[in-house]
Amino acid sequence: MILEGSFPLLQRCVLATSKNGRNLVFYQVDLCNKDALEQVFTSHHFDAVVHFAGLKAVGESVAKPLHYYINNVNGTLNLLEVMSSYGSKKLVFSSSATVYGQPKSVPCTEDFPLQAMNPYGRTKLFVEEIMRDLHRADPEWRTILLRYFNPVGAHPSGRIGEDPRGIPNNLMPFVQQVAVGRRSELSVFGSDYNTKDGTGVRDYIHVQDLATGHSAALFKLFTTPNIGCTVYNLGTGKGTSVLEMVAAFEKAAQMKIPLRIMDRRPGDCSEVYAATEKAEKELGWKAQNGIEEMCRDQWNWASKNPFGYRPSHADGKGSKPVRNGGLSLRVSNATAVA
Ligand code: UDP
Repeated sequence: MILEGSFPLLQRCVLATSKNGRNLVFYQVDLCNKDALEQVFTSHHFDAVVHFAGLKAVGESVAKPLHYYINNVNGTLNLLEVMSSYGSKKLVFSSSATVYGQPKSVPCTEDFPLQAMNPYGRTKLFVEEIMRDLHRADPEWRTILLRYFNPVGAHPSGRIGEDPRGIPNNLMPFVQQVAVGRRSELSVFGSDYNTKDGTGVRDYIHVQDLATGHSAALFKLFTTPNIGCTVYNLGTGKGTSVLEMVAAFEKAAQMKIPLRIMDRRPGDCSEVYAATEKAEKELGWKAQNGIEEMCRDQWNWASKNPFGYRPSHADGKGSKPVRNGGLSLRVSNATAVA
């Protein structure tokens, strides 16, 4: 693997992929920089591209819509143009269940009406539409749009996991930061939904299952000349409430997570989970892990890397102690308020 610069995550990925990792080549390129992107395509031929790059914070997208449209939509347009001109026309794209908005019923099948509820969701929806148009205009394109439900968990080694900057937006990164003492309590957004216990219900999927879903999608692209532009849900088909998820994490980590019940978060829907039949039938893929495994691996990652890929702030100047979740930790002011 060629590493330009020092990226702990990439180094850990190389180790995790062991002998395969030796053949990896890494370039750090902004998709908005088309010239730089083109340089990569002049150096290598790509049989297929898996496009994960994008901004993903809903709240930030409401505050900075142009930033989201430029980055997520323009970046993808550049990629599609460059791929097209270098004759590389197989693509797997990371879409999101957010394109279902507030679904009319659950589980969501892939043919449900699409209605994103915020700029982030619209960037995913617009890119999906662009890909459908592209395939109509040029049937040589083979594209698979994967609608992720709620990815959680971490690599079972405990070496690779999510490390959000600033205050986490999503449930499980927040829970894990409470568990390691970086935050004092979890705010539960809404307890009056029409769900099993009043809290929001989502379809959480282990990142390892998400990864195998991508392998299955790539295999499908290469083996199905008439795949066109096809959508698949990547979820487990099971709905889990916020309180159920917290309880599963508490069991895995053997600790209590302090909760504060708050008002609903604007723009949140009550209940979303996936219909999984299409992916099972056509991709031959089915999620293998339940919430117990998700929480086990989330806690394994969190407890081994309480500050993610950054070194501990234990001795840092201006650090202050925070709630101790069973580990001895301190957190810098910058981290605590970022
Ligand atoms: N949630 C919560 N507290 C948080 C973050 C999320 O109660 O700090 C709830 C949220 O209202 C939703 C569920 O957890 O019901 C999943 O939220 P997340 O942001 O992870 O995913 P999304 O809403 O995008 O599906």
